[in-house]
Order: sequence, then structure tokens, then C-alpha cells
Amino acid sequence: MTLTTRRLFGPGPTNVYPEATAGLAAPLLGHLDPAFIRLMDETCVMLREVWQTQNPRTLPLSATGSAGMEAAFVNTVEEGDVVVVAVNGLFGERMCEVARRNGAEVVRVEHEWGEPVDPERVAAAHPSPKVIAAVHAETSTGVRSDIAALGELKGEALLVVDAVTSIGGIELRADEWGVDIGYAGTQKCLGVPPGLAPFTISERAFARRVETPRSWYLDLGLLGGYVGGATGAQRTYHHTAPTAMVASLHAGLRRILDEGLPAVWERHARAGRRLQEGLQELGLELFAAEGYRLPELTTVRVPDGVDSTAVRAELLERYDIEIGAGVGPYAGSVWRIGLMGPNADDSSVTLVLGALRDVLGR
Ligand code: PLP
Repeated sequence: MTLTTRRLFGPGPTNVYPEATAGLAAPLLGHLDPAFIRLMDETCVMLREVWQTQNPRTLPLSATGSAGMEAAFVNTVEEGDVVVVAVNGLFGERMCEVARRNGAEVVRVEHEWGEPVDPERVAAAHPSPKVIAAVHAETSTGVRSDIAALGELKGEALLVVDAVTSIGGIELRADEWGVDIGYAGTQKCLGVPPGLAPFTISERAFARRVETPRSWYLDLGLLGGYVGGATGAQRTYHHTAPTAMVASLHAGLRRILDEGLPAVWERHARAGRRLQEGLQELGLELFAAEGYRLPELTTVRVPDGVDSTAVRAELLERYDIEIGAGVGPYAGSVWRIGLMGPNADDSSVTLVLGALRDVLGR
């Protein structure tokens, strides 16, 4: 099978930064090689910067974003613990299921898809939950929610935040906003291939963790040794680190921090703004609530009479451009266009708008 190079404007994986590709292709290191241990230590330091946290327990879990979600709940929730989940799309929905499977009594706070989370309603949903959980950037709808406001209202609860689609793309300040546990993925705005889950946990949450979680692999008590120096613990064997992926993440993070986090956020903001203006000029209607639209993931309503799948297929066939379909109730009626990592620039906006104009005949 011959593979062509696609321009990936889907919700992920996005195109990767060339530096991250080079990191992936670098000579392979053994997972116990001192050079790899240095690379891991530096990766954890850089991850603290993109999370904007001082948490010593900040590390890339060797698994995808969903494992980050599992790690958040398996380490905090025991039978009967109350978990309040803000649901405004597919990934809030997934949080409910993961918390439920860990024995939680889940209190769902429903929102319309396309709307942001209402912090007051979430905080008022239960008087004393162990955990309050929300998605910062809902990939299913293209909506940003106000995590800082939730942090202010969380009280004694631990605040768990899904930052899979926000990290490295829009403002994210874990410590300032009161995030106790954050998990992410490498494949979105970080511009690194899928496969790792950047994870951070506050000292407060670590002190209140489940002593013997149901998962061995995701037990944060054991993972402390895996990252060794980063937590002050002696490094011990836990599992064989995916060294090529960590090297890729290291290179991608270096690339982002060299550009500067505020500059990276601004580049995403500008690209998203230009795309959203351009789509409206083409007569298309945006899906996400105004004022809460993610620049890195734009949701558009499929115009009446247009075959959503046929348009996506034509974009792929004629332009090697992949955009995402909607999910859940919006599978056939919404498109999701990502401008993440290296794709968050003027040339990508021009390309995707031109191709859409052509395919839609506008
Ligand atoms: N959370 C959000 C907001 C996501 O967008 C995704 C994936 O798209 C996930 C969680 C799950 O991540 P993964 O697919 O890497 O397991």
C-alpha cells in the first residue's frame, strides 16, 4: 500500500511539527540509558511549563488521552464517592462512564451540545463531591469552557480537567485556575503523534488519592518511581518507556517553548479567527456558541442538501485534506475543522477555505 501525505485538518491527529517527526526518527535510546533518563527529566520540566504548573508529578503517561482520563478517576475514586461531571459533549460523556466503572456515584450536569459548561450550575449540583470534572476544550463541539471559574467554586472537591484539545493551543493555567488533575494528549495542538498522555497532579490531590487503585499500570503511587528525579524518588523500573515517542514529545515541546507559549496561543487564535470569518463569508453557519469557539477546532453546520460524507471524501481525494465529521447526534450535520500545532497558520486557513469553496461550488 502506498501512503500519500495528507493534510490533516481533522480533530486529530493533526499534522506534526517537523521537529517532533525528527525526534521520532532519532536514533533509538534504551529506556534505562542515562541519555534517555535526561530526556525524560527534561520532558517533565517542559510539560510543567505547558501546563503552567509547579506540580512535581507531571509526566507523560505511556498511553493515549483516554488513559489519562482513566488515571484521573482510578486514582481518585472509590466505591460510592460522588463525582460531579459537566457534560457538554462526547468527552464529558466518556468521563461519566469512566467514573461510573470506578464505582463513583456520578452526578451529571447536562448542557446543550455547542454550549460551554455553566460553572455555577456544576458547583451547585452536589454539596460535597469528591471530584468535579470538566472538559476544557470539547473536541466534539468546538467549545471552550471556563476552568478558572470552576476552580474558584470547587470548594473541597478535587478538580479534574480534560485538556486534550487545549494544551499547547489556547491559554491553560493549571495552578492559577486550581486544577488538581489534568490530562491531555500529544496529537492535538502539541503537534506530536498520538500515543502519550501528558498528565499532572497537585500535591493536594496526590495526598487524597486512592491507596490501592484498581489499575496497577496507572497507579500514580507507583508511577512516581518511573519519573524518578522529577518527584525526588529513586528511579525504579515500572514499565518500558516508549522511548521514541518521548523523544518526539521532547522535540515538539522544545519547538513550542522556543516559539514561546503566548506566541503559540496567539498563532492559534489568529488562525481560528481567520478561518471562522472565512467560513461565514462562504455563507456557512458555525455551530459552537459565540464567545466560546475554540480557534483550534471549528465546528460548522453542514448546509441543507449537502452530503457531508461526500464533501469530506472529495476533499481527501482531490486535495489530500482530511476534515472531521460530527459525532454523536451531529454525525452527519456538522464538520469539525482543526487548525492545530503547525496547521495553525495563514497558509492552512487559505488552503482549507479554497478547497471548501471549490468543493461546495460557492
Ligand atoms: N478528551 C478529549 C477532549 C479528546 O478530544 C480526546 C480524543 O480526541 C480524548 C479525550 C481521548 O483521547 P485519545 O483518543 O488520545 O484516547
